[in-house]
Amino acid sequence: MSGAAFWPTKGSRQATLLARLDIHRPEDLVLHLPLRYEDETRLTSIEQAQVGASAQIEAEVLSSEITRPRRQLLARVRDEAGSEIVARWINFYPSLQKQLAPGRWVRLFGEVRGGFFGVEMVHPRLRLVDKGAPLPQTLTPVYPTTAGLGQPVLRRLLDAALETVPLDEPLPAALRQRLSLPGFAEAIRTLHRPAPDIGAHTLAEREHPAWLRIKFEELLVQQLSLRRAYHARRAHEAVCLPPCRTLTHALHERLPFALTSAQRRVMDEIAADLAAPHPMQRLLQGDVGSGKTIVAAFAMLQAAENGWQAVLMAPTEILAEQHYRKLAAWLDPLGIGIAWLSGGRRKREREAELARLASGECLLAVGTHALIETPVNLPRLALAVIDEQHRFGVRQRLALRDKGSAGVRPHMLMMSATPIPRTLAMTHYADLDVSTLDELPPGRTPVRTRLASTARRAEVVARLKAGCLEGRQAYWVCPLIEESEALQLKTALETWETLKETLPELRIGLIHGRLKTEEKAATMAAFVAGELHVLVATTVIEVGVDVPRASLMVIEHAERFGLAQLHQLRGRVGRGTAQSSCVLLYEPPLSGTARARLKVIYEHNDGFAIAREDLRIRGPGEFIGARQSGLPLLRYADLERDDALIEPAREAAGELLAVDPQAVDKLLTRWLGSREGLLRT
Ligand code: ADP
Ligand code: MG
Repeated sequence: MSGAAFWPTKGSRQATLLARLDIHRPEDLVLHLPLRYEDETRLTSIEQAQVGASAQIEAEVLSSEITRPRRQLLARVRDEAGSEIVARWINFYPSLQKQLAPGRWVRLFGEVRGGFFGVEMVHPRLRLVDKGAPLPQTLTPVYPTTAGLGQPVLRRLLDAALETVPLDEPLPAALRQRLSLPGFAEAIRTLHRPAPDIGAHTLAEREHPAWLRIKFEELLVQQLSLRRAYHARRAHEAVCLPPCRTLTHALHERLPFALTSAQRRVMDEIAADLAAPHPMQRLLQGDVGSGKTIVAAFAMLQAAENGWQAVLMAPTEILAEQHYRKLAAWLDPLGIGIAWLSGGRRKREREAELARLASGECLLAVGTHALIETPVNLPRLALAVIDEQHRFGVRQRLALRDKGSAGVRPHMLMMSATPIPRTLAMTHYADLDVSTLDELPPGRTPVRTRLASTARRAEVVARLKAGCLEGRQAYWVCPLIEESEALQLKTALETWETLKETLPELRIGLIHGRLKTEEKAATMAAFVAGELHVLVATTVIEVGVDVPRASLMVIEHAERFGLAQLHQLRGRVGRGTAQSSCVLLYEPPLSGTARARLKVIYEHNDGFAIAREDLRIRGPGEFIGARQSGLPLLRYADLERDDALIEPAREAAGELLAVDPQAVDKLLTRWLGSREGLLRT
């Protein structure tokens, strides 16, 4: 198709510009839809043109001149009824003046303004015409474009593409009828070349049936490609790990608390997946503190009781170590060993751990990305758990997956404390099964959140002191300085020094990413043991850190943090039974978005509500961040506004995959072209 006669040759300037818009074939161009439209199907007399509104006038050039010292091109024109208007250009090619020769008839399209020279149009679009020439029959589309590629070129290419690209209908008629959607060809023609009476409002708001059709198809294609990727991965073989209930039962017996019903439900879902002969691909999401770790522990034990290996990978050393301690405390009494691998451990220790894993003597391991970077040999790997999965890139996740022996893919359990709003889970995560912990363990009291401007810092410090002298423990979170890690470190050191000076009666520790592993571990241990009142910390404590006795938190320069980050940080307190509080110190004046973020975190404690707001403020592209290289994002459908289309698109995807694989191929090729292959891993 890209051999079409009108299509620019490969490597030409025009082809390069089109590629910049991700348009590589005439089919891509057909799906390049207008941003808005202009109505050039009507003429307005100068007399009736309204100041502030766009209008098209037809008039004769009376004069044109280039003024100095401010170089401008001024043309005075007069319409048939005898009214005059000035057209003014500030940037122009000299050829423009030649075109505006007195006596020529022109059509000018633009906004009419009251100006220095009387009523005027600044930078109107100009068309040279014969007086009374026929007007266009359809609205004029305005396309998203890039510098150097003008609207007229795009329109001309589209005219040709609409003539030659076959606009086949892949959707069964019954489905279209059920959803009252127009055909693809009709929708495409309507959107590129709409009739003037179409109802400009529904078109602009993207609520016209033609828009709904395209947005539905886009959502459908997203479902299809993600479901195909899901099925492709499922076609691989995995080890069946039926629940033997030897080790898992023993852990149940010794558990110091009763599982929540959400935990029990989720564990059943996972246990069933592990028993199947194809790899699990499950996302476990649950708010901060909902108890994901124990769920992971049970899954790992199910592997171990079958004689297979399981690993848990966490994004930071602090978190990995904490997981290690927690798992060891649960599993040691059962006689189950567990290895701990992190970049910071001494070479000798690490090698001993590696040997235990390679021999198969040790079945379980916890670690940081050291698990994928060092030559870890896991001959019997059957389950990989990734905690705080959004902190890892696609490649790192694949690297962990490929640690298993050849031909056998491990079951994968991805855990996330950044809850994914329902609409996003249903769309962008359609290639995973999702389990949700929607219940917190009993006895938690919601964190009380307060906002305070830095002017009240002394007051906040005084309260912190009072709290600690009553036996409470506190985190003091240092400001995030995105531009410079060195500066962030410096600030953390300064904060620590200042707090020590101001509060000599308190024991204050400092923790940050640059400390040696042992130093970090020692400081954390002192805080856990209650030997420190206050822990000054950078965002290294953001994920997962669990010290139930800590019940106070101050976050400095809270306005610099993102919503998910603030929620994660705040989640470090409120883990015990004491009333916890979190003070968000901010530096006025606040920007609009910073204010919006702080308001959300102040008003909500529930991670799902916060995630919804976050999605609304930032949009899905940012929200899902690193997951996503190669994943098709949505160009036209909007998850919030087009919510009603999502479920039908999911259902239709299931139906099409089952009954009409050719239609599926057609749809994927039309929308994704060669990109589809990226998803097949
Ligand atoms: P997260 O989901 O944030 O990773 P954790 O797994 O760290 O949460 O659990 C938070 C705390 O709650 C831990 O101290 C854990 O031992 C405890 N916990 C987990 N499940 C329960 C439960 N059912 N009842 C009481 N405490 C629990
Ligand atoms: Mg956790």
